[in-house]
Amino acid sequence: MSMAPNDAVVVLGAGLAGLAAGDELTRAGRSVTVLEAGEAVGGLSRTVGRDGFRYDLGGHRFLTDDAELEALVRQILGPDCLAVPRSSKILMGGRYFDYPLRPLNAFFGFGPVTSARILFDYARERLWPIARPPVNLEDWVVRQFGRAMFDIYFRDYSEKVWGLDCRRIDMTWVAQRIQGLSLGEAIARALPIRLPGRREVDAQRQGSLRGGTRSGAQRARELQGDLPTLTSRFLYPRLGIGQIAEGLAARIRERNAIRTDSRVHKVHHAHGRVEAVEVLERGERHLLRGTQFVSTIPLPALVAALSPRPPAAVLAAASRLGSRDLLTVAVMLRGPRVTQHTWIYLPDKSVPFGRIHEPTNWSPDMAPPGHTLLVIEYFCFRGDALWSRGDADIAQETLEHLARLDIVDPGRAVGHEVQRIANAYPLFEVGYDEHCRTINDYLCGFANLHTAGRNGMFRYFNMDRAMLAGRDAARAILARQAKEEALPAVQLTA
Ligand SMILES: Cc1cc2nc3c(=O)[nH]c(=O)nc-3n(C[C@H](O)[C@H](O)[C@H](O)COP(=O)(O)OP(=O)(O)OC[C@H]3O[C@@H](n4cnc5c(N)ncnc54)[C@H](O)[C@@H]3O)c2cc1C
Repeated sequence: MSMAPNDAVVVLGAGLAGLAAGDELTRAGRSVTVLEAGEAVGGLSRTVGRDGFRYDLGGHRFLTDDAELEALVRQILGPDCLAVPRSSKILMGGRYFDYPLRPLNAFFGFGPVTSARILFDYARERLWPIARPPVNLEDWVVRQFGRAMFDIYFRDYSEKVWGLDCRRIDMTWVAQRIQGLSLGEAIARALPIRLPGRREVDAQRQGSLRGGTRSGAQRARELQGDLPTLTSRFLYPRLGIGQIAEGLAARIRERNAIRTDSRVHKVHHAHGRVEAVEVLERGERHLLRGTQFVSTIPLPALVAALSPRPPAAVLAAASRLGSRDLLTVAVMLRGPRVTQHTWIYLPDKSVPFGRIHEPTNWSPDMAPPGHTLLVIEYFCFRGDALWSRGDADIAQETLEHLARLDIVDPGRAVGHEVQRIANAYPLFEVGYDEHCRTINDYLCGFANLHTAGRNGMFRYFNMDRAMLAGRDAARAILARQAKEEALPAVQLTA
């Protein structure tokens, strides 16, 4: 058993949230130990590969509206910080449409009969909307866009991503991705003239995001924050997204420790305080004490590790929070680039994967000269038939589908690599927020335990929100310390 220094902060997980917390605390002169179950830092925001081919676990573009965070990322990356134009497409019925949703493009792309059906369904929904407030993805999309748009554009991709019927998916994910727009608003925005009342529509929309009833868009923003998802460029490191995590880790290691291959399996607590965590490191158990703890490991894993065990209702809530997992196939190719897009989305259910990206479109240094690669994303559940299949089999089938879609000639392939990524997406099944509330109410009872990050808080966070949550946790710890240090002085002068 080993002990950490007594004033230490212990951070659970070295993804971007944990690293951002560790970096903030290190810069403030605190003693920190970051514990990571994997063999490398970065969590979901890692870059892997071999033989000069590099790729993220699903392409990761960096965007933020937080100037301080952007400055930090630019400082870490220095000359390796690229600004990459964004252009994503969705492939439906053999045709490419803009992604994320630009309703006009989808609206006119299907020909006059389908367009008329879309308009008719939308008008019907406006005139006779369903009475109950929308809760699930299907209700919300039908209300905003009409039934035809839901059937054509939303159903298949959403069900592919989540592996659930749209009536079981909470509406927040889709509301966030299309920023609360309705078909009517989208058409009005695309018109070259300013319609009377347009400003009011915008103002109302802004208002609905900030107060009044808790709209779909508002709930979505609570999940993610005001991310500018429609900007035309994003930041990307020359050698892949993992450079951000590696840069943060290097800063922490200047004065503190990051322990990889160190899995937290018990979190010991007493009298409303966490006292220590127990980790397994290469078969050995170690106990680390600390004064403050930041957890970025999946919320259900944290609840399961608490010792003594939480009340039954909290354990039950945690057991109902699921995750959607991911399997990626990287296909290394000889010859020139294959696509021009940031991502290509594939809702068609006869294609087993959901998204493709070509890392060399993001940075030319992601493949050796004269080569490129495609990374294909399969959404799945840990342990399902796909997850358990052999790598060679999956790669072979992937190449056959790519050929059928006329994306690449399999004869160009020089290698492949399969990655299985657990906990890629918190699963937003209807009712999840109630379970989160039960857990958070309980965790609030611990004076020195902070949760941060995507799985750590069970939120649909992008990288910047995960990092900001880590930074916020660190700042809360520093503020509390400053307050405690100020107390004796106040008493002396009293
Ligand atoms: C396919 C995909 C594409 C994405 N694309 C983008 C994008 O383009 N732009 C964007 O901004 N965001 C994107 N994201 C989101 C981004 O990956 C996350 O927001 C971010 O990586 C979350 O960081 P985190 O530290 O909160 O969580 P994680 O990265 O999950 O880190 C948690 C860490 O805790 C560790 N851990 C777990 N259990 C234990 C334990 N018991 N003990 C010790 N350590 C443990 C894990 O190994 C992991 O390293 C994408 C996500 C996915 C899945």
